[in-house]
Amino acid sequence: MKIELIDVDGHNFPNLALMKLSAYHKMNGDKVNWYSPLNYSLNKKADIIYMSKVFTFTKDYEYPLYAEKIVKGGTGYKIYEDLPEEIENTFPDYSIYPQYDFAIGFLTRGCIRSCPWCVVPKKEGYIKSAATWQKTKRQDSNKIIFLDNNVLACNHGIAQIEELGYQNIHIDFNQGLDARLITKDIAKLLSKCKWIEYIRLACDTSEMLPIIEQAVSYMKEAGIAKSRFWAYSLIQDVEEAHQRILKLNEMGVKPFAQPYRDYEGGEPTQEQKDLARWCNNKIIFNSCKFEDYKPRKL
Ligand code: SF4
Repeated sequence: MKIELIDVDGHNFPNLALMKLSAYHKMNGDKVNWYSPLNYSLNKKADIIYMSKVFTFTKDYEYPLYAEKIVKGGTGYKIYEDLPEEIENTFPDYSIYPQYDFAIGFLTRGCIRSCPWCVVPKKEGYIKSAATWQKTKRQDSNKIIFLDNNVLACNHGIAQIEELGYQNIHIDFNQGLDARLITKDIAKLLSKCKWIEYIRLACDTSEMLPIIEQAVSYMKEAGIAKSRFWAYSLIQDVEEAHQRILKLNEMGVKPFAQPYRDYEGGEPTQEQKDLARWCNNKIIFNSCKFEDYKPRKL
């Protein structure tokens, strides 16, 4: 069979579902390629095109699709179903993204919370264990980026972090750790791990500031360098988010702003985008106040 893949969001990060589909089909003797409409026509169709879209705000694929069957998936299409079990359990085919040298995967799925702006509880449900680091690791790399949404809410996740502390593996939890669950003991476990760069936290409301401050003090006490602290900051109310970003920075936590987008992928306001641009460009952030930031020519 001729299997064609489309990573609708672009190739800015490896798409786990597409890598698993690729591995599964190759294992079954199928030919797998990135789809190009130039290779097909109405008279010469692929057997299956798989299209994966993670973000709601990404534009859909705009070119002709020539295939007997088209399968779409991903949060960007508001399709929350898991892959069939035999595909889900297949080790990803990293060869389709040769530009990345790390493994990706989940130790846990789901979350214990239900923040109103977040799709995770709807998509993944309550926290549960998913895999081990051994099953996630690539043989040719000692880096793993975990995509867990709340790994510290699960005993399995914590046990995995403890094991990782004894390994020569550099890790990142790119969706952020829940600072409410960072106790002194957890901070000690985190201090034993080797980090690719940052320990990412999430600070989406001002109520989280004292909690982040406490978590950071536990982690510093455990010996983690200040340069590792980093936090997502959701922007809904611009002034509130602005103050929160300043406070995080005062605490020595690098803020990373994300303008809120609803499930429909609606555009953030210009002011929300301006605040994010100001915060995330560290040259601008360190050289001018938001009040003085002029993103457009007058
Ligand atoms: S804690 Fe994080 S993952 Fe869980 S519901 Fe809130 S925003 Fe979503």
